[in-house]
Amino acid sequence: MDPVNVFLDSDIAVVTLSNPPVNAINQQVRKSLMDVVKTLEIDEKVKGVVLEGEGANFVAGADINELGEAPKSPFLPDVLDAIEMSSKPWVASINGNALGGGLEIAMACHARVAASGAKLGMPEVQIGVIPGAGGTVRLPRLVSMSNAIRMITGGKPVSSQYAAELGLVDLVTPDDPKTEAIKLAKEISESGNHVPTVSRTLIGCAEVDWDAEQQKLIKRTRGAIAPLEALGCLKENENASVGDAMRKARDTFLALAQGQQASALRHIFFAEKAAGKSLRDLDALPSDLSCVGVIGGGTMGASIATALLLSGLTVILIERTREASEAAMSRVRDNLNASAQRGIISEQTATSTFARLTVSDDYCDLVGCSLIIEAVFENIDVKREVFATLDEVVDRNAILATNTSYLDVNDLATSSRYPDRVLGLHFFAPAHVMKLLEIIRGRYTSEVALATGAALARKLRKISVVSGVCDGFIGNRVMSAYRRECEFMLEEGATPAQIDAAMRNFGFPMGIYEVQDMSGLDIAWAQRKARRYAMDGSVRYSRISDQLCEAGRLGKKAGRGWYNYEQGQAGVDDPEVVKLICEESKAAGYFRREFSEHEIMERIVTTMQSEGMQILEEGIAENADDIDVVMVNGFGFPRHRGGPMYMCKS
Ligand code: NAD
Repeated sequence: MDPVNVFLDSDIAVVTLSNPPVNAINQQVRKSLMDVVKTLEIDEKVKGVVLEGEGANFVAGADINELGEAPKSPFLPDVLDAIEMSSKPWVASINGNALGGGLEIAMACHARVAASGAKLGMPEVQIGVIPGAGGTVRLPRLVSMSNAIRMITGGKPVSSQYAAELGLVDLVTPDDPKTEAIKLAKEISESGNHVPTVSRTLIGCAEVDWDAEQQKLIKRTRGAIAPLEALGCLKENENASVGDAMRKARDTFLALAQGQQASALRHIFFAEKAAGKSLRDLDALPSDLSCVGVIGGGTMGASIATALLLSGLTVILIERTREASEAAMSRVRDNLNASAQRGIISEQTATSTFARLTVSDDYCDLVGCSLIIEAVFENIDVKREVFATLDEVVDRNAILATNTSYLDVNDLATSSRYPDRVLGLHFFAPAHVMKLLEIIRGRYTSEVALATGAALARKLRKISVVSGVCDGFIGNRVMSAYRRECEFMLEEGATPAQIDAAMRNFGFPMGIYEVQDMSGLDIAWAQRKARRYAMDGSVRYSRISDQLCEAGRLGKKAGRGWYNYEQGQAGVDDPEVVKLICEESKAAGYFRREFSEHEIMERIVTTMQSEGMQILEEGIAENADDIDVVMVNGFGFPRHRGGPMYMCKS
C-alpha cells in the first residue's frame, strides 16, 4: 500500500500519511511524500494542501530502526524544504500525536490545526539525538525561544491546547481537524499570503540567559549529551543564517545518531518495549480489575492505592485499626494533592479520584475484589496471616499479590489454600510515580494470576518485567550485591562521599549512601539480622553498616546515617563515620589506599554485571535486557549508558 494518499476536496488536496501503527517516517514515506509535493506543485487544480495522518496519530516520529544506519535519500530536511517553499499553502491537520519528525513536518507547513486530544512534542533527546530536520530552527519562530528550549531539551510533549497558547498551532478543535484545516487552506490560498516558517523572526531570543540555561541542563541531564547539543543548535539561530543553523542541526543530528549514547538509548527504548513479552503470549484471561483491594496503607500501600486510583480503578484499602486507616487515608490524599500541585491532575480530578477510595479495618469489605495486593510489614508471619485471612473472606478465584521486597513468594503462597492464585507484584517507591513493576512468577503461580498482573501493569501504564523467585528478585538482588561491594571499597580505603560522587558523576541521580540515608538503614539491617548473613567468616562480610545502625545512625530521619545532617549534609564525609570505617579497615586487616572514580565505578558496574549473569544462569530474569530495564527504571542507572548488561556488550 502506498504510504501517502491524495484526494481532492474541490480545489484543496488532502494528503494522508499512512504507515501503521503510528505513521513513522521512513525512507519510503519520505520518497512518496516528496513525489506528492512535486506533483501537487504543478497541478493547477490544486490551490492548497492539507496534510494529515491516518488513524489515531498524525506522525509519531521517525522510524527509530533507521537511526543507526546511514541516511537514505530523500532526506527529511529536503522534503520539508519543498513543502515550506511550495507556492501553495500547506496546512497540517494534526489529528493525533505529532512527535519528533512528525512535528517537524507540521512546522514546515504554513499553518496548523490540531484535534483537542493531540500531543505535540520533540522527544528526540530521549533517544540521544536532536531534531534533525529543522526543528531547532522552526520551533523558536513559532513559540518563544525559552519555550523552544524547554520543549526540545526536555523532550516532553505538550497538549494541543497548550501548544495553541504557545503559538505552535493556529486552531484547536474537538472535532476532526481536517474540516477546519481545509477551510483554513482555502482562506490562506485566497489571501495569497503564506509565509514560510523559516522567514518568520525569532521570538524572545534576547531574553534568554544562555549560560544559565546551560548550567541548569548540565545539572539535570547528568552526562547525557543530546540536550546540551540541542541547546547549542537553538543558540545558533541567534547569529547564524537560517541555512547555517539548519546545517549545524543536521550535522549534529547525524553525528549523535551514530554515537554511543544514542545507541545505548535505542537499546533501552527497545528493551522497554520488549519487556514483559512472555506475559503478552499468555492464553489465560485476566481477572476483572474494576475493584482492587490493598492491604496495608503505609508508605507503599498508600502509594500503590494512589497509582490504582489515578488509573481510574476503585480501591478498597484495609488497615489494622481505625487510627491506622485514617493515617492511610491522609497519605493517599497527600499523594493526590501532590500530583495536583505538580500539574499531573487538576484539583477537581484529585477530589473525584479520592472518592473512589474506601478505607476500612474490616477484611470482609474486600469481598467484591478480584485482585488484592498486600503491602503490610516486611515480616513473613504477618504476611502469612494476611493470606490465611484472605482465604476466608474473598472468592476462591480472587488473585492475591504480595509487594514483598525480599521474602520468599513460594513460601508465602503456601499460606493460602490455593497457592496458584499467588504472585508477587513488586512496586517501586513511590508506586504512583515510578514506572517499573516486577511481576514475580512463583513456583505455583497460575497463568490467570500472571495475566492479571500483566493486565494491571498495562492499566497502570507501567513497564513490567517478569522475575523468578530469589532473594530480592532482579533489582534488589543486584542492588544488594553492589551495596556489599561498595562497603568492601570502604574497608579498602574509599569514603562514602567519594563513592557517592563517583556514582553521581557517572550519571546516577544520587549515590548509594545518600539513597540509604534517605530511605533509612533499618530495613536492610533487619533483613541482614534475619538472614544471619554468613557471619562464620566463609564469605566476606563488612560490618560497617551494622555498626552505624547500632550507633543509632539510621539515616536522615535520625539526623545521622552515613552523613551527619545536624552539622553537615549528604555528600560530605562525617569524620566520625570515616573514623569508624578506618577502624573497621584495620580490624579486617586492610591497608587503606586511594580509589579513583574510575575504579569505583568499574567495581560497581562489574558487580552488577556478574550478579546479572548469575540471575540469568538461574533463570530468574528472562533475558539480559530485562535486567537493564530494571536497573534503569528502578535504580537510577543512567539511561544514556543503556544499563549494566548493555555495557558488557558495548
Ligand atoms: P510500612 O511500615 O510503611 O507500612 C506497612 C503498613 O501495613 C502499616 O501501615 C501497617 O499498619 C499495615 N499493616 C500491618 N499489618 C497489617 C495487617 N495485618 N492488616 C492490615 N494492615 C496491616 O511499610 P512499607 O514501607 O509500606 O512496606 C510495605 C511492604 O512493601 C513491605 O513488604 C516492603 O518490603 C514492601 N516494599 C517497600 C518499599 C519501600 O520503599 N518502602 C518498596 C517496595 C516494596
